[in-house]
Amino acid sequence: MDQNIRNDLLKLFRENLSRAMKLYLETCSRCGLCVQACHVHASMPQLRYIAAYRAEIIRKIYQKYFKAQGSFFPRLSEAKELNDDALQELYEVAFSCTGCRRCMVYCPHGIDTEMLMSMAKLLLVGARREPEMLSLLADTSIEKGKSLALFKKDFLTGIKSLESRVIEKWKCPAGQAPIPVDVQGADILYVPLSGARSIIPAAAIFNAAGRNWTLSFFEAVNFGAFLGDPARTRLILERIIDEARRLKVKKVVACECGTAFRVMKQLSGKQPFEVVSIVQEMARYLREGLIRVNRSRCNGPITYHDPCQIARNGGVIDEPREILRHLAQDFREMSPDPAYNWCCGGGGGLVAMGEDTLDFRMKSARVKVDQILATGAKIVVTACENCHTQLSDLNDHYKMGVEIRLLSSMVADALVGPEETASTNPEKQTLRETTRIPA
Ligand code: SF4
Ligand code: SF4
Repeated sequence: MDQNIRNDLLKLFRENLSRAMKLYLETCSRCGLCVQACHVHASMPQLRYIAAYRAEIIRKIYQKYFKAQGSFFPRLSEAKELNDDALQELYEVAFSCTGCRRCMVYCPHGIDTEMLMSMAKLLLVGARREPEMLSLLADTSIEKGKSLALFKKDFLTGIKSLESRVIEKWKCPAGQAPIPVDVQGADILYVPLSGARSIIPAAAIFNAAGRNWTLSFFEAVNFGAFLGDPARTRLILERIIDEARRLKVKKVVACECGTAFRVMKQLSGKQPFEVVSIVQEMARYLREGLIRVNRSRCNGPITYHDPCQIARNGGVIDEPREILRHLAQDFREMSPDPAYNWCCGGGGGLVAMGEDTLDFRMKSARVKVDQILATGAKIVVTACENCHTQLSDLNDHYKMGVEIRLLSSMVADALVGPEETASTNPEKQTLRETTRIPA
């Protein structure tokens, strides 16, 4: 590696070395409690998939360049030179980590391996060694923000073509647009993913709840966050912040995309609008009687997969269960419980990287498959498109014989008007704990 490149990367390291990161780099006691916490290692027991091992690569570079002992006694401190081989190792550990943070809840020091992997990803971005596919997708999102006029006409035509499918789920009053766009002064800006699946059910639910809402021109997913590139993460996020400010909305509702929700919620800063997940919004509508659902439309035992970025990392744990108490006659909680839930294996940009990661995603999520099958559920509901894709791939690969659904589509399909009976007595459902799977 050229010395100038190394100097640039070390500068990047130094400038982004937060106090928390330093603490994590200096406190690992090598107790090994994180070994079985990672779904990758639990499914494929190899040294490189242990959370502490992943962090160790970054730690050794830190020892070499930022600690006196590492500079003078590299052997003693296991310091590591930042070179092409080290970058290759960083790639392997960072892009086999989904950022689920399950290891963090088991670590006695609360070491955040995801945060340490963000440094690994940053160095890869600095060296232009990040995954090409994610880089391309991030650049396309940024370009769309710069030249919206070019995309607007096709976008509006596409949205128009979805209107009849929204009306099939919920008939709105005459004169009201089933999918309002660019509404100045709307209460809600709904930020979807590209594709009908994240637009149609949400539109029906907002209309049924009588909300004054508008659809964002931009898709919620933030490929910059998957890349671990703070600059591109910011640019992608700012398209949405600017739109929300221009329309003067009171609330930004993030679609069922864990990373999008987490980035919007945690990185938007102080704004004149609040950020919530559509899961929180749906739970509120049911709680306040703004929408009603008929539970008899959902047949079969149901379980719920907590998306890591929404539940463990985003704090939205009770709301999906509140919704499912209205929807499911037989809801079966997975075990271990949500804070310790196994990751589906598709996060951290792995699903977005497509076929390239398919084999790894299938092998590394075997524990997730076991966890789902132990419930005996026939329907697996989740609230993240990424998780939905990964769970669908797992369903095919392992022939699980379950149906994978998104929460919003379950709610939209069960909507009932005031003339219909809403069977929403949450007390009548069956709740079962499945056998606890040891961590
Ligand atoms: S964040 Fe998740 S995937 Fe990454 S090391 Fe920890 S448990 Fe494994
Ligand atoms: S659990 Fe925490 S302290 Fe123990 S080895 Fe893992 S990262 Fe280090």
